[in-house]
Amino acid sequence: TLPKPRQPDLKTSLPGPKTAAIMARDALHLSTSYMRPYPFVPDHGEGVWLTDVDGNTMLDFFAGIAVSTTGHAHPHVVKAVQEQITKFTHVCLTDYPQEITTSLAERMVRHVEKPGEKWRVFFGNSGAEAVEAAVKLARNHTGRSHIISTIGSFHGRTYGAITLTGSKTKYKRGFGPLLPNVSHVPYPNPFRPPLGSTPETCGQAVLDHIEGLFQTVIPADEVAAIIIEPMQGEGGYIVPPADFLPGLRALCDRHGIMLIFDEVQAGMGRTGKMYSFQHSDVQPDIITVAKGIASGMPISAMLARESVMTWPVGSHGSTYGGNPVAAAAAHATLDLLEGVVKHPGCGDSLMHNAAQVGEFIMAELKGMQTEFPFLGDVRGAGMFIGLEFVKPDGSPDGKLRDAASMAMFERGLLNLDCGEAVIRISPPLILTREEAATGLEIMRDALRALK
Ligand code: PMP
Repeated sequence: TLPKPRQPDLKTSLPGPKTAAIMARDALHLSTSYMRPYPFVPDHGEGVWLTDVDGNTMLDFFAGIAVSTTGHAHPHVVKAVQEQITKFTHVCLTDYPQEITTSLAERMVRHVEKPGEKWRVFFGNSGAEAVEAAVKLARNHTGRSHIISTIGSFHGRTYGAITLTGSKTKYKRGFGPLLPNVSHVPYPNPFRPPLGSTPETCGQAVLDHIEGLFQTVIPADEVAAIIIEPMQGEGGYIVPPADFLPGLRALCDRHGIMLIFDEVQAGMGRTGKMYSFQHSDVQPDIITVAKGIASGMPISAMLARESVMTWPVGSHGSTYGGNPVAAAAAHATLDLLEGVVKHPGCGDSLMHNAAQVGEFIMAELKGMQTEFPFLGDVRGAGMFIGLEFVKPDGSPDGKLRDAASMAMFERGLLNLDCGEAVIRISPPLILTREEAATGLEIMRDALRALK
């Protein structure tokens, strides 16, 4: 007989007394600029399990917003960090090369370069910094200023990034003036097709819309870049139709516009490929990467074609960018993603595991749609899965989503919302099929309680 799969272990009602006490202190002294969907104060983690300060152990289906690629406290990552921190913690990369970042850059471009191409890397500390670097580079390289982004997008919270972000006005209200010369176009969401289109035609409809703007309001030869998430994250875990990215590439080529793919959330193996755009044949000019790159250590990267990375030496930089301890964690994360180091129970590589276990989760969730008609859409790739809650008339049901999220939490499943009425499933990529089944069972039980 097989051992019973590990289950969440709830020792107190939620929140427990220590959790409540820390949250009360937190409310007194921390910035209130963030929200909590439910009360949780972590104490320690192991793999896909997180234990709070009251001893309640939860199954983690959100991975610190798609960050903890290798789970919590992965021994291989911990060892890499420990080894580097005993050597040196910081010597500024803007001044001195370091083997650990040189080799990390070499390693990262290998996942992007096609034959005959050369790419280069700039290291920062966060997703927003990678996005800022991408926009600066696109403007500097093209000598143009206009940037086109998408509605529903999220690109970060620094000034350039909030200007590009198109998901919620609260990110902008009271913070202006923002960056000039930024426009937003609809994202081709097949479940809610924009511009009067259909699921099949929504990609072309958005492309036609952009061409229309070039005739009427934005001179195409003043556009430096189009920035887009090849699979939209915060906006609702949306996958565009297959003809969209190739069409967008062709549009950019026609007008000499840089194509920036923001892979901060969907990248680093999450969708079962290293980058989510690699489900197509399309090559961008610039890529932004963060979150899953180093299992939670702060490091980000902006990758660009060598022919595009033409800004003058020293014109952009960052004191901590490419910090060697974070770079060590990135190397260890890549070891597991690529399968250079195997994680027990996860087959060839974590990337492969994300594809396989993700497919299992997606199939199970699609199966649940019969029992729960309010699950309007199940979509995604690999372990990047969105579950959209709808009212009987098909409109988004954010309230039901919030109730479902809480019901799952109360049963020991950490999860996170996105979009208007979506729960995102973005677990650590070490999640096994058995652990996935445990999570799905909790979800089913929570959804039954809603009926
Ligand atoms: N781009 C995308 C696609 C993101 O999802 C995020 C974070 N949610 C960011 C950029 C910003 O990253 P950070 O919070 O690390 O600045």
